[in-house]
Formats: sequence, structure tokens, C-alpha cells
Amino acid sequence: MDSRDIARHLRFYQELGVTGISRDRAWRYRQDAAVSTAAVVDAAPAEVAAGEAGAPAAAFIVPLALIRSVEGLDAIRAELGDCTRCKLHAQGRQQIVFGVGSPAAEIMFVGEAPGADEDTQGVPFVGRAGQLLTKMIEGMGLSRDDVYIANVLKCRPPNNRDPQPDEVEQCEPFLFHQIASVQPKVIIALGAFAARALLKSQDPISRMRGRVYEYRGAHLIPTFHPSFLLRSPGYKREAWEDLKRALALLGRQPPATSPAPRA
Ligand code: URA
Repeated sequence: MDSRDIARHLRFYQELGVTGISRDRAWRYRQDAAVSTAAVVDAAPAEVAAGEAGAPAAAFIVPLALIRSVEGLDAIRAELGDCTRCKLHAQGRQQIVFGVGSPAAEIMFVGEAPGADEDTQGVPFVGRAGQLLTKMIEGMGLSRDDVYIANVLKCRPPNNRDPQPDEVEQCEPFLFHQIASVQPKVIIALGAFAARALLKSQDPISRMRGRVYEYRGAHLIPTFHPSFLLRSPGYKREAWEDLKRALALLGRQPPATSPAPRA
């Protein structure tokens, strides 16, 4: 970790409302849930998991020492707890679907919310759309273990309805913490919902894709959601261009044998 990583880390927490950093142990424990100025620089993992489900997520911080580690992600998962922060916990969710993949991935995929298969298995993108995403990742010459995959919402909305603003507001800080922990170089936002939620834009995906945005220290590439590509396979070529752009930003190319992924 060099000084640029530390600067990026601090900038991220400044955006979350953290206004100070101290090595003083007394700062590591919030007196009052409304206070979001606590900051932890070098706490041990056991100290990190000291949050309650129901506490504002922005006050939680992944220690620098745990960044890009399994323990960093575990600490975020522990902070999320058996979450009851929004109404989705009482609307039929079977389990929280946190995220999967490498804790130090260079590429992170962000989707919308778990569907029925993900809700059953507790893993993002394992249904039909997930199988296409897996093929897309393999087409890039990577495996699911090489990347990190998460959603804006960690719980399934009933009948796969669109996520609602209060749900996004409660849940997205945990995605931001995942991004801060993994520190991907490239984030690929899958579909309009994820791209809009991250970029705080109302633009249609057709306008957002084809561009590279700078976002929380990473390059962000919006592309079509795999579910949309299953319904409209004619757009796969454009999605493939987006994935190649992501590889190019990492100085890589897809393997010579990679075709545009098919459903
Ligand atoms: N669609 C998503 O956006 N996320 C999943 O995990 C599955 C389907």
C-alpha cells in the first residue's frame, strides 16, 4: 500500500462524511449512532466487527490493514449482520447475498439485487443471468474467482420488483465499503439500475455505456445487464466491447480464442 492508496482511502471516507482520523483508541467506538466522525486506522479485526445491524453503515470503517483481504470483507459482512435496516428483511428474503470472489480483485462487477436463485443459494449471479455473466467473465480469460461480484441490494425484492430508493439508501453504503475494501481498478456496472445507483444519474444505459467514468478511485464501465442480454442477444457485441475496454484499462486483452459470449 503506497501513499496514493492511503490518499484514495481517506478521500473515500471523506465522501462518507468522516471528518477526522485519530489513532486514539477512544475514537474507535461510537458514543452515539448519529455521529459519523469515528475513524479507525489500525484496529485489529475483532474491533472492526463491533457494529449492530440497524446502525448507520457510514460510521463503519474497514481498517487500512484489512484492505484487500478476506478479513476486511468479513468485517463488512459482520457489520451488516442479520440486517433489518430496510423493509426487505420482512418481505420474504431467505438470506442476505453479500458478495463473492477475490478480496483483492482488479475487476468488480456490480449488479442490481439478488433474484430467486441467488436468494436460495446466498451467492450473487448464479441463475440464468449469472450463468451468462460467468461466460462473459470466462470470455475475458478470467474466472469468477479472479473477480469480485456484488449487488447494490443484498436482499431479494419480492417478485424481483425494482429496488426502492429507501432500500438503496440503507444498503448502498455496504457496497461502498466493499469497493473500498477490494479497491478494484475497474468496476463494471451491470445494467441501468446499478449504473444509475453508482453514478447518481438518471441517464438510460444506452447513453451511459460506451464511456469510462472515474469513480471512487476506479474506472467505472456501465454495460448491459446479463438478463437484458438474454432477452436481447443482439446487444451482446456491444457488451463484449465494454468488457474488452475493461481489460484494456488493465493493459490486457482477451485470449485470442475468445468469441463474444453466447447465451
Ligand atoms: N441479477 C442481479 O442484478 N444480481 C444478481 O445477483 C442476480 C441477478
